[in-house]
Amino acid sequence: MRPLPIDTPLAAPLDRLQRPLHDLRVSVTDRCNFRCTYCMPKELFGPDFAFLPRDQVLSFEEIERIARVFVELGAEKIRITGGEPLVRRDLPVLIEMLAALRRLDGEPLDLTLTTNGSGLRRLADPLRAAGLQRVTVSLDSLDDATFAAMNGVDFPVAKVVDGIAAAREAGFAPIKVNMVVRRGLNESSILPMARWARDTGVILRFIEYMDVGHTNGWRLDDVVPADEIVARIDAEMPIEPLGSQYRGEVANRWRYRDGAGEVGLIASVSQPFCGDCTRARLSAEGKLYTCLFSADGHDLRAIVRGDATDADLQEAIARVWRVRSDRYSELRTAATADLPRVEMYAIGG
Ligand code: SAM
Repeated sequence: MRPLPIDTPLAAPLDRLQRPLHDLRVSVTDRCNFRCTYCMPKELFGPDFAFLPRDQVLSFEEIERIARVFVELGAEKIRITGGEPLVRRDLPVLIEMLAALRRLDGEPLDLTLTTNGSGLRRLADPLRAAGLQRVTVSLDSLDDATFAAMNGVDFPVAKVVDGIAAAREAGFAPIKVNMVVRRGLNESSILPMARWARDTGVILRFIEYMDVGHTNGWRLDDVVPADEIVARIDAEMPIEPLGSQYRGEVANRWRYRDGAGEVGLIASVSQPFCGDCTRARLSAEGKLYTCLFSADGHDLRAIVRGDATDADLQEAIARVWRVRSDRYSELRTAATADLPRVEMYAIGG
């Protein structure tokens, strides 16, 4: 392990692998209206499932306070996630509070949100007006039967596509679409999704199916490696690699050689990118996770609900970040699949 640099200032701390704290992902709810088989399978998340009681979920004021302290520590990007973030009541109010924060250099934050798209027809305008800059919509297929088999609630493709249209009408651009690819389930949707994204001008990002949590029964055989996805697309619509825009960018970007836009590959299984991971995650109940594959989080809710000052909170977060050494995906083996891990619906990816 490399030693800590002696002169690391409190603001902008580096972790043990010299990674700065750049992004914060905030899960605003553990609830979701979908039951994706790879995330919240309905057999386990049925009507009796005990989601967090309301008083255990961070209030907007608590989220804003924690986010502000992260920004004071150098975070420049905040992604709102869940569960399904659009099921949290009055979400635009939180967006407005976060949009008012300023980075250390005085610039607005990069404020974005990941959603299943089901609520965008209703909420795209208010979210945009509140100051949200970008949206990423998850959509795993354009085929209703395949999509239903993945979302677990027979949710129609057309409604998500309409949500994407609503986001565009509200002025969000560019719009990204995330597609989790699972062997044998939606592989046949790779090319139709790529063609549709090219035609509609959204940026499609293929995500390798990951072993987050334990409820999805993940097996390495279920993963379609990014190289294979690239080869399939390239055979029909030639693509070439693009460089990354900034340190910590999760997607490997490729552009169509004919100039018709780009696609991204999030290859966290076959090409792990822990060395550049600058992300912290805050769960709906206020736990800070330093890795998507962590077993435990650090309880920030207890701090904000106690009599701690903002300086105490800043010190607590900086202390967690400075000793961070997580690089789960680089160490992944068959044996690590059994280690305890937080579930994806709790921290939102
Ligand atoms: N409900 C929102 C949504 O659907 O985008 C936000 C939360 S969801 C957990 C965030 C992203 O994680 C989605 O794009 C989802 O497809 C992805 N995801 C969930 N489980 C996954 C897994 N096991 N492997 C890869 N991606 C996963």
